[in-house]
Amino acid sequence: MNLPPVSTTSTAGRYAPSPSGDLHLGNLRTALLAWLFARTSGRAFLMRVEDLDRVRDGAEQRQLDDLRRLGIDWDGPLIRQSEQLAHHDDAIRTLTEQGRTFECFCTRREILEAPSAPHLPPGAYPGTCRELTADQRAERARQRPPAVRLRAGAGEWTIHDLLHGDFTGGLDDVVLRRNDGVPAYNLAVVVDDAAQGVDQVVRGDDLLTSAPRQAHLAHLLGHPQPVYAHVPLVLNVQGRRLAKRDGAVTLRELHERGHDPLALITQSLGLPALSPADLLERFDPSSLPRTPWVFTPPA
Ligand code: GLU
Repeated sequence: MNLPPVSTTSTAGRYAPSPSGDLHLGNLRTALLAWLFARTSGRAFLMRVEDLDRVRDGAEQRQLDDLRRLGIDWDGPLIRQSEQLAHHDDAIRTLTEQGRTFECFCTRREILEAPSAPHLPPGAYPGTCRELTADQRAERARQRPPAVRLRAGAGEWTIHDLLHGDFTGGLDDVVLRRNDGVPAYNLAVVVDDAAQGVDQVVRGDDLLTSAPRQAHLAHLLGHPQPVYAHVPLVLNVQGRRLAKRDGAVTLRELHERGHDPLALITQSLGLPALSPADLLERFDPSSLPRTPWVFTPPA
C-alpha cells in the first residue's frame, strides 16, 4: 500500500505570555489573533509560558484559565521557558565557540550614560566591554558577574511581517545571558521558537523593533526565519499601552461589570461576536485594523 509521505516539518504558531499578572484585554486580543493566524493557516498552536522573568504566584494558572474561557485551545503540552534551559545553554555555547559572544560588566546606568556612537539608536549598547583584555575582564569580574552579549557587529537585518511588510532594523550586541545567569529574553525566544517548530510569530507591535535582532540571532544559530505578524496594541485614552492600572481590563473585571470581553475584542477587530472556533471562517488577515484600539475601561 502506498501511503502519502509524512511531513517531518512541523509548523506552528504560538502565544507566549509572561506570567507576571492577569492578562488584560490587549493581551487577550493578541492571543486570539495569534490563535486565528495559526489555525487558519493550518498550523499547530502552542502555548509557552515565558517564566524566566517577573513571575507572580498563581498568574500562570489564571492566564491559562482565562485563555480557555475565551475559547482558545492549544496543541500538545504546555511549554515553560524555565524547562528549556539546556537548549538556551547549548545556543550560547554554540555562539561562544563561533567567537560571537563577549562578557559585559556594564550596569544599565553605565550604558545609558555612555556617549553613544552616532550610528546607534538611543539606549543601544555602546560597545564598552567588546574589546576588553583578559586582565581587564578579570579585574571587572571582581566587582560584578558578567552578562554575556552577542558580538553582532554593525549592520541591519530585514524581516518580513504580514502586516508591516519588509521591516529593517539595526543590529545590537543583545544580551544573551543576564548577569544573574538567566538566559535573556531575546535569546530564549529565538531558541524556543526554533526548538518548538514555531514558524509564525504573532505578537504585539511593541516587539516589531526587536524582530530583526531576533531573526538575525536565529540565522546565526542556523534556524529558519519565522514569518511575523506584529498586531496593533490596545491603548488607554492617554495613548499609552493599556495596563491593569487603567481600570477594569481583565476578563474577570469585565465580566463582573456585565461586559462580554470576547465581544469587545471581536468588535474591535471588525469581526462578528462569535466564538473563536466560529470566527475561523470569517478571519481575513488583510482586513485587520492597522491602528491601535483605544479602549476606555467601564467604570
Ligand atoms: N513574553 C512576551 C510578552 O508577554 C512575548 C514575547 C513574544 O511573543 O515574543 O510580552
